[in-house]
Amino acid sequence: MKDMSSYFSNLGPRGGSNRQADFDEFEAMELYCPKCGQAVAVRKSLLLILPEGDKYEYRCQNCGTPVGDKLDKSGQFYTLIKR
Ligand SMILES: [Zn+2]
Repeated sequence: MKDMSSYFSNLGPRGGSNRQADFDEFEAMELYCPKCGQAVAVRKSLLLILPEGDKYEYRCQNCGTPVGDKLDKSGQFYTLIKR
């Protein structure tokens, strides 16, 4: 039994880091939405995969208005294409 518990505690940190990688796709952030008139939680979605990087769009979670975008040069899709 003692051996089993140390086995699981060794697995623990690895499982945790895998979950963190998934969590990266939900960047918790707020941007100002002109329609709502306040800073709102935004949804990040992949818009385009360009030669210079992954283009992401941020949309207001309340009304869906695009409130910003971002070019991610270290994005996972960009890295795949660059190969
Ligand atoms: Zn809004």
